Amino acid sequence: MSNVNFSDNSMENQIQRKALELGYEKCGIIPVDMMEGYGEKLDERIEKATGSGQFYQGQKRLKNFQEQYPWAKSIIVLTVPYSQYKVPEEISGHIAKAYLFDTRIDEQAEEYQHSQLLENHLKELGLRVETNRKFGVVALRWAAMKAGLGIIRRNNFFYTESGSWIRIEAFLTDQKMELLQQTTLPACPKHCDRCIKACPTTSLCEAYTMNPLSCVSFLTTFGGRDLPNEPMASNFGDWIYGCDICQEVCPMNQGKWKGDKDFPGVMALSPYLTAENILKMDESYYQQNVQPKFFYLSQDELWKWQVDALNFMDNRYQEHFNSSILEACESKYEQVREMADTVCKKHGLT
Ligand code: SF4
Ligand code: SF4
Repeated sequence: MSNVNFSDNSMENQIQRKALELGYEKCGIIPVDMMEGYGEKLDERIEKATGSGQFYQGQKRLKNFQEQYPWAKSIIVLTVPYSQYKVPEEISGHIAKAYLFDTRIDEQAEEYQHSQLLENHLKELGLRVETNRKFGVVALRWAAMKAGLGIIRRNNFFYTESGSWIRIEAFLTDQKMELLQQTTLPACPKHCDRCIKACPTTSLCEAYTMNPLSCVSFLTTFGGRDLPNEPMASNFGDWIYGCDICQEVCPMNQGKWKGDKDFPGVMALSPYLTAENILKMDESYYQQNVQPKFFYLSQDELWKWQVDALNFMDNRYQEHFNSSILEACESKYEQVREMADTVCKKHGLT
């Protein structure tokens, strides 16, 4: 929880109280100059992760946010957990939780509605505000760390008392404000490297160092589409879309997942998201029900999900997958046919 001062009626405290009332876990406010240092960190990261320059190109927008928003004076940073949601059994361990419970643009999600309400409240207070719900208006982990909401651990995830199963949001404002929080979270245990050891593709190659280009989350979503020729595809194991391994193995996440509440639409959608049903999925169902939620892939990229599903079947091959794999050999998508042919050859199917 944020430290709250109920007797102080400053703008900062009014904002914080409203945020907590709306269900946010924490709220801090930093002057924009506290973002200094992020650019340097980003450059360091690009240098360490060979070939990742292209990937991080988009992050340059975050480094230079003041060019786009010269009026910005402070940043409101908030955290909200998603660990209260139930993960349906059939997709557990196959689809990463952050995507399953993605509140960024889902109008049915109460967190999304609360974010809208908070934005309205900020405007009612007379503030000029700007946010980017999908990808952050500033570097979110950096801002949250500077606001004292938690810490970044060796797996690069940001942790609060709720573990790493949280989403960070930020709003730029045109008023100079500051409301720093304090965290008492312990650092990673001295010799712990569980997350690094567990990473199936060695994307997380050392503490605080991750090459996004070899991360399963990248390779099964918006990156890496040549899975038949992707040497790491066999390391994706059970994962079809995203990967939670470096968070799941972390002792600091022990007991943090509550999973006692339904997220809107997830229970109804999950039977369609098994590997076999992804391969059966028609385009209109995908476009209406799946793509709007999993927006990293576009309306015409159902084939990417199907390639991921075939890769899972290859990795965890069972005879009952045969009919799905053979059917996929006749798919209208060339990439799906190619992947299915590769899987057929590997497992002696004709
Ligand atoms: S999400 Fe998965 S692949 Fe990516 S760094 Fe973590 S463990 Fe490695
Ligand atoms: S697994 Fe260990 S080293 Fe990795 S983030 Fe968790 S506590 Fe830190």
